[in-house]
Amino acid sequence: MSQKKFYITTPIYYVNDVPHIGHAYTTIASDVVARYKRLEGYEVFFLTGTDEHGQKVQQAATVLGVSPQQHVDNLHQRFKELWARLNISNSDFIRTTEERHKKLVRDILQELHAKDEIYQASYEGWYCTPCERFWTEKDLAEGNCPECQRKVEKIKEHNYFFRMGKYQQWLVDRINNDPHFILPASRRNEVLGFLEKPLEDLCVSRPKSRLPWGIPLPFDEKYVTYVWFDALINYISIHGSLDDVKASGFWPADHNMVGKDILTTHAVYWSTILKAIGLEPPKNIFAHGWWTVNGQKMSKSLQNVVEPNNLIDKFGVDVIRYFLLREVPFGLDGDFSHKALIGRLNSDLANNLGNLLNRTVNMMKKYCDGVIPTPASVGPEDLPLTEKAAEVIAEVRKLYNELSYNKILQKIWTLVDATNQYIDKTGPWNLAKTNEGKERLKTVMYNSAESLRVLGVLLNPYMPDSMSSLMKQLGVQSSIEDQGMASLENWGGLKSGNQTQKAKQLFPRIEDKQVEKLLAELDVPKNEKKESSNQITIDEFMKVELRTGKILEAEKVKKSKKLIQLKVDIGTETRQVLAGIAESYEPENLIGRTVIIVANLKPAKLMGIESQGMVLAASKDGIISLAGFDQECGQGIQVR
Ligand SMILES: [Zn+2]
Repeated sequence: MSQKKFYITTPIYYVNDVPHIGHAYTTIASDVVARYKRLEGYEVFFLTGTDEHGQKVQQAATVLGVSPQQHVDNLHQRFKELWARLNISNSDFIRTTEERHKKLVRDILQELHAKDEIYQASYEGWYCTPCERFWTEKDLAEGNCPECQRKVEKIKEHNYFFRMGKYQQWLVDRINNDPHFILPASRRNEVLGFLEKPLEDLCVSRPKSRLPWGIPLPFDEKYVTYVWFDALINYISIHGSLDDVKASGFWPADHNMVGKDILTTHAVYWSTILKAIGLEPPKNIFAHGWWTVNGQKMSKSLQNVVEPNNLIDKFGVDVIRYFLLREVPFGLDGDFSHKALIGRLNSDLANNLGNLLNRTVNMMKKYCDGVIPTPASVGPEDLPLTEKAAEVIAEVRKLYNELSYNKILQKIWTLVDATNQYIDKTGPWNLAKTNEGKERLKTVMYNSAESLRVLGVLLNPYMPDSMSSLMKQLGVQSSIEDQGMASLENWGGLKSGNQTQKAKQLFPRIEDKQVEKLLAELDVPKNEKKESSNQITIDEFMKVELRTGKILEAEKVKKSKKLIQLKVDIGTETRQVLAGIAESYEPENLIGRTVIIVANLKPAKLMGIESQGMVLAASKDGIISLAGFDQECGQGIQVR
C-alpha cells in the first residue's frame, strides 16, 4: 500500500533579514502540521529555505566587500541554525542560488517564452529601488512608493512580461469555487478585492546593467529574472524537473504558508504561473498575521525585535513553541510580551500539565511500586474521563483542517483539566487506605497514566522534547512517532507492567521574584514593566484584546431577567458570550449585528453557563446601548 503524501512549505525567507520571532512563528506552525501528519501516517515533505537574489543582497555584499554568493553562503546559516535550535523537522532546505533551483527557473522561462506566454515590450513606470518594483502613477502614495514611502524614479526600458492578465477570470472563479483555497476567509476577500481591478501582465525581467545579481533569462542574457518569479518556483524546484514534480506525488502542495504581506504575490502571481505551466495551484494558501511587541511593530530602530535565540536560552524551546501557537488565533495579528509568555509557562505548562505528570508519577511510585498496574474494566466513575479523551481526540483531528492551533491547544487542555479532576475526585490517597480501595486504585492510577500518554501523543507536534520526556517518565518504550494517532483509537494503549521513572519537572515555574531579573537579562525594554499610576500605557491598553464579532445566535437565558446568551463569530472561532442586555434588546434583533468583544477575558460562569468574552456596551438610567460601528467592517478585526 502506498503511503498518503502530504506537502507543506514555509515561505522562503529573505536571506538579508535577521531571523526574528515572526520567521520562527511561520516555521513552527508549519512544523507542527508536518509532525502531526506524520503521526497520522502520512509521508510528509516539509520545505523551508532562503530567497537569495536581488538588489538588497547585492548592496549588502558590496558594503562588506565580498561577492554576493559569499555573502549569502554566510547569511543563510543563521536560518539553518535557528531551525535546528527550534527543533524544526524540515525535509530539505532550498536556497534560490542553488543549481537545482536555477535550472527549473530557466526551464520554465524558456517554456513560457516559447509558448508566447512571455513577450517583450517597452515599459515606462515609476521604479522603487529598495522594493525592486514598478508602480503606476495611480499606485503612488503622494508621489512616493506606496509600500516603503521612499522616493521613486521614472524609468523607461524594454522588459519581458508574463501574460498574467489573461488568467484573471480563471483565478477569480478558482477562488470563488474553493473556499479552502485561500484562508482565512477575511484574507480571501482581500485577494478578491485586488482582483476587481484589471489584472496587468507581470514584468518578469530586470536589465542586468541595473541588477546583475539574479538568474539570467535563458533567451536574453542581458536580463535577469524578477526576484518574485524566481523565488516562488522554489516550492516545485525542490522536486526536480517539471516531469519530476508531476511524478513526485507532492504537488499540489497541501499548504503554502505565508505571512499576510505576501499573500497577493502567492495567490495571484504564483497561481497564474502554475496555471501557465500546466500545474494546479496549491490546495491551500494560508496567510497568518503579524506579531507586534507590546503593541508596536517590530523594528530595528525601536530595538524591540524579539530575538528567538535569547528566548530559547531563557525559557526552553518547547515553551516558545507552545506560547506562539497558543496565544493568538492563527491568521490574526498577535502581540508578544514576555510577561504573557511567563504567564502561560506558569499556569498552563507548570501548574496544569507539569503538575499532573508529577503527581501521577509520584503516586505511581508510592502506591504501585512505580509499575503501571493492570486495570479492572472501565467503570461508571471512569467514563467521564475516557469519553472526554475520545471527544478531544476527534475534535483535535477536525481542527487541524483549519489550522486552528490555539483551539486545538485549548481543547487538549480540557483533557488536562479533566484528568486532574479525575484524580481529585477518585482520591487515590483515600483508596490506598482499604483493601477494597486498593483494587480500585489500580484502575485509577492506570487511567491517569493512560490519559497522560494520550496527552503526550497529542502534544508531541507542539513540544516534541518535553513529550518524549513525559513518555519516558511513564515508562513507555516505543517512540511517539511509532505510537502515532492510531494508538489513540482505543482507550488502553499504555502497557501494564512497565517501570516508570523518577518524576522530573517538565516545566519549572518562574517565581515572581525571578521575573524582574530575567527580564533585565533579556534586555526587555522598561515599557514592558508595570508602572503604578491610574494612567495606563499604550502597552497596557493593548493587553485587552478587542475584536469585532458578528452575532450568529441570540436567546434569553431561562430564569434570568437580564441575560442573553449569544453565539458570536470573531473571525477565527465562535464564542459563547453572556450579555446583561435583555431589558434593552430583543434577541432576534441582535442577530447579524457587529459588536465589540473583549476576546482575551478569562471565561466565567453565569447562571451555570460559561461566558467566553464580554460585549462592550454603555449604560445610562438602565438603558443599555451596544457599542458598534457606523459602517460594516467584518468580524475578527482588532479594535484599538
Ligand atoms: Zn518601495
